[in-house]
Amino acid sequence: MKISVAIDGPAGAGKSTIAKMVSERFNLMYINTGSMYRAVTLKAMEKGIAFNDIESLCELIDNMEMHFENNDLIVNEENVSDKLTMPEISNNVSNYAAVLEVRKKLVQIQRKISQKYNVIMDGRDIGTFVLKYASFKFFLTASAEERAKRRYKELVLKNVDVNYENILEEIKKRDYIDSTRKINPLKKAEDAIEIDSTNMSIEDVVNKICSCIQSKIS
Ligand code: C5P
Repeated sequence: MKISVAIDGPAGAGKSTIAKMVSERFNLMYINTGSMYRAVTLKAMEKGIAFNDIESLCELIDNMEMHFENNDLIVNEENVSDKLTMPEISNNVSNYAAVLEVRKKLVQIQRKISQKYNVIMDGRDIGTFVLKYASFKFFLTASAEERAKRRYKELVLKNVDVNYENILEEIKKRDYIDSTRKINPLKKAEDAIEIDSTNMSIEDVVNKICSCIQSKIS
């Protein structure tokens, strides 16, 4: 039986940590689609390409070979994972991700991978668009304050100089752009199970998702 699991939700809801853990339990390939949008942002900013320069963005993406290795994103043989969570990228990614041509190209790559492997994919439009027919769909939320707190702790552990208020503001701004953009905005799919993790531990969320999956495949 081919399995595909979609996990959507706002920034910092814990999607990637949880998706990685669920992927291990069911031997699924984990695809972090946010990291693909972040990689485009990173490479575009390195080359000084603005988000409204569609032609240069398309050329850039056409020359980016992206694949995942042990949950890390490799772009043209470079492991870019550590660079992707930097505040500079977080502050700009939603503008690049709102561009139709960028989305079309990345969705094509995401769907290709899902046709070949059993996947768990996280993002904003997975259950509503990329994997509209996914076997399992979850929508993960938490309060903006709780999400900012988690992101703050994560960055401090990586020795990044950050400020909680700035992170909270960036998260709220990103939520706004992601949920109001015209093309495939962040939205719960009608058939997705919503989990509010504000007062739940990571293990609780993972167990809830795993038991939903297990009950249908056994
Ligand atoms: O998941 P993460 O927070 O790393 O995603 C970074 C950004 O990439 C999001 O804020 C959103 O703008 C964009 N994104 C998207 N569609 C996806 C995944 C991410 O638009 N499927």
